[in-house]
Amino acid sequence: MSDKILVTKSSMPSIEEYIEEIKPLWDSHWLTNMGVKHKKLEKELKNYLMVRNISLMVNGHMALELAIQAMKLRGEVITTPFTFASTTHAIIRNGLKPVFCDINPKDFTLDVNKIESLITKDTTAIIPVHVYGNICKVEEIECLAEKYGLKVIYDAAHAFGVKYKGRGIGDFGDATMFSFHATKVFNTIEGGAVCFSDKNYGTQLYRLKNFGIRNEDVVDAIGANAKMNEFQAAMGICNLRHIENEIAKRKKIVGRYKENLSRMEGISFSKEQEHVTSNYAYMPILINEDIFGVNRNNVYEQLKNHGIYARKYFYPLTNTFSCFKNKFETRQTPTAIAVSEQVLTLPLYADLKLEKVDEICSFILKMKK
Ligand SMILES: *Cc1c(COP(=O)(O)O)cnc(C)c1O
Repeated sequence: MSDKILVTKSSMPSIEEYIEEIKPLWDSHWLTNMGVKHKKLEKELKNYLMVRNISLMVNGHMALELAIQAMKLRGEVITTPFTFASTTHAIIRNGLKPVFCDINPKDFTLDVNKIESLITKDTTAIIPVHVYGNICKVEEIECLAEKYGLKVIYDAAHAFGVKYKGRGIGDFGDATMFSFHATKVFNTIEGGAVCFSDKNYGTQLYRLKNFGIRNEDVVDAIGANAKMNEFQAAMGICNLRHIENEIAKRKKIVGRYKENLSRMEGISFSKEQEHVTSNYAYMPILINEDIFGVNRNNVYEQLKNHGIYARKYFYPLTNTFSCFKNKFETRQTPTAIAVSEQVLTLPLYADLKLEKVDEICSFILKMKK
């Protein structure tokens, strides 16, 4: 294959469109601190995501940390090891103890049948992840949270624009974090947001992202700095104009992948979930070595040597990171272990040509032993 194909490629508006959007900043000289662009994007995202409340942040990770802080969580939090470093780091950096629950093999989100046995008197929250844009069992999680008086904060970094039964996915739980990182379905270069049900969290989040400053004379929270700046917001305003088209293109590409790969023994992928409007964020496949004859790492290497950069996403599991050496029991989540050893995320972005998808698939097919 001639050109390299990376796992993703950031969506960008035309340079003319972006310049038009940022031009007023040269008149106002107002570059950050909740300016005009910030306010406009916040309003537009609230509509698009169909959420009751939203607070923009400098990135998804800080959004998650500040959501945790706004709820003043303590003790233990039930979460998944099958996620990006950010989720687990946010929990630990805030002095909480992560308790790792296994995932289900269908959509790779928390196995709701295994949550209850992990709840102790110290548990204060559940932090599940909507993996690859597959949504968690939100209704079952809500029942458990109510029964045991737990908070729920979703990591929806993969689930921008996903709807469940006609409701925005960010409207479930006490809070939901979105990431608008360059590699995500929707980006503000770097960026993120917290959506939340109780509007009192709004005041708290606003202070936490701006040093705890209430007004010129009063600083009444030990806040961080997590403000989204005007250039980020302007990028978001532009990208949001094209999001429907981007998702439609992704849908076609995912369809093409599935068409090609469904004929391949030893390769599987998750079905579309019922009542879910997907965002087609990722194209993960599972490679079963016993049937396919070649293991995931080998497929990854062969693709790479051919200029196709897939990702072992998520591998390794977060609870096995070397920064946590000997800190956690790592054998309690057998499904997460198995999936992380078999999963490979194939290239996917709106402008990926269908012919390239065919090439990638036939190349994988040829590897079969
Ligand atoms: C990208 C990502 C994050 C972190 O978001 P940033 O905007 O990069 O800080 C958190 N969790 C998951 C699952 C992610 O994929």
